[in-house]
Amino acid sequence: MKLCMIGTGYVGLVSGVCFADLGNDVICVDKQKDKIFKLKNGKIPIYEPGLEELVIKNHKTKRLNFTNDLGSAVRKSHLIFICVGTPSKKNSNDADLSQIYNVTKEISKHIKKFKIIITKSTVPVTTGDEIEKIISRSVPKKLFSVVSNPEFLREGEAIRDFIYPDRIVVGSSNKKTNKILKTLYSPLISKGATYLNTSRRAAELIKYSSNAFLATKITFINEIANLCEKTNINVEDVSIGIGLDKRIGSRFLRAGPGYGGSCFPKDTRAIVVTGKKFKTDLSIIKNVIKSNENRSKILLKRVSKILNNKIKNKKICFLGVTFKANTDDMRESSSLTMIPFLSKKGAKIYYYDPTGKKNEFKKIKNVRYCNSIKSACNSSDLIIIHTEWNDFKSLNFKNLVSKKNFIVYDMRNIYSLEKMYKNRIKYFGIGK
Ligand code: NAD
Repeated sequence: MKLCMIGTGYVGLVSGVCFADLGNDVICVDKQKDKIFKLKNGKIPIYEPGLEELVIKNHKTKRLNFTNDLGSAVRKSHLIFICVGTPSKKNSNDADLSQIYNVTKEISKHIKKFKIIITKSTVPVTTGDEIEKIISRSVPKKLFSVVSNPEFLREGEAIRDFIYPDRIVVGSSNKKTNKILKTLYSPLISKGATYLNTSRRAAELIKYSSNAFLATKITFINEIANLCEKTNINVEDVSIGIGLDKRIGSRFLRAGPGYGGSCFPKDTRAIVVTGKKFKTDLSIIKNVIKSNENRSKILLKRVSKILNNKIKNKKICFLGVTFKANTDDMRESSSLTMIPFLSKKGAKIYYYDPTGKKNEFKKIKNVRYCNSIKSACNSSDLIIIHTEWNDFKSLNFKNLVSKKNFIVYDMRNIYSLEKMYKNRIKYFGIGK
């Protein structure tokens, strides 16, 4: 099939290259000229394991192409996927849909033959109705169909998640459209993915509800971890104990610094706004947001306690600053709250991240990027393991740190409390 992905970010690029790899002709469109230039030259603008090889392979076979020309891509394609960003509005919790509607208006100018317009971006309930309304102002209804096909991939695991999804949700009540989408996804269905056809509005809500539920699960175990710290219980025992209940399941029950990233924070906020719009109080999600916003403060309080309230001039090393491992994404990472706070208190921050230096800390006082784990840890008073990269999983701290009395605060519970005690390392984890 001939498709185009409008918006070549984490979702558009990954799904575009995977669709190409499944044998489709795909054009990835983006308004950023440098992004498209890089991609045409085999350079990948984001960090995502396995992506580079797949892009180069499919670009070589000419099944995958890149352009800044949205019009020509739409004219050449049968299926048009909208994959642009839907961040929170500035100073509001609502989703900013300006990128979606700008793209919609652009697409409508180029519909001369039947096209299926598919929203892969995460959009609030009724956005599909609005897209349909905008296009029908200039295009006869028989020439297009608007579908919601939310994407569930996770950064860091994006290719695997796309190829082996638990389910594919397609929101459309148009039989012909549904049949085409089912054919497009048939290679994934035959590998075991469940294909779920719903109404367009239901598909939109499935995406928000999934993210809100997962955010709730994370927040739930984080609060239980707080209780464990006060009662001398290891939260990992509790996670295993409750996760073994099949009704609950073990995933997303690992206590840590709170959820962040480009999806959960903005999507939990947006669904609450949708609730308000339809006069429905989503009180659980509201409290999840509040609890998660408080998470960094709780962890920072513990940092202060660990350092006997003497943060000034302490050398603190952060291992990993992105919102999770295997991504370069800094959006709503808890390090963006923690590092400026500690710097304000007079700490000297050294950080290392496998995806390199971050512009976000350029203007923060006393924050230095180090290009190796060793140079970041070397003279630390406190090492904070902030993300769970494999690179941080078997460190010999005594060889890495020159000081005698250094402390490790493991915010991902990578290391065992008992082993650290045995090695006489002052160690703190989460919820233990
Ligand atoms: P992103 O910011 O990485 O990429 C969006 C891209 O769209 C950018 O490259 C931008 O330049 C481009 N764009 C914006 N307006 C454009 C226009 N008019 N024409 C052409 N290109 C344009 O965003 P993302 O992380 O890929 O997320 C996209 C959507 O998918 C969001 O709604 C998000 O919530 C959802 N989503 C994201 C993930 C994830 O893990 N990142 C997972 C599932 C769903």
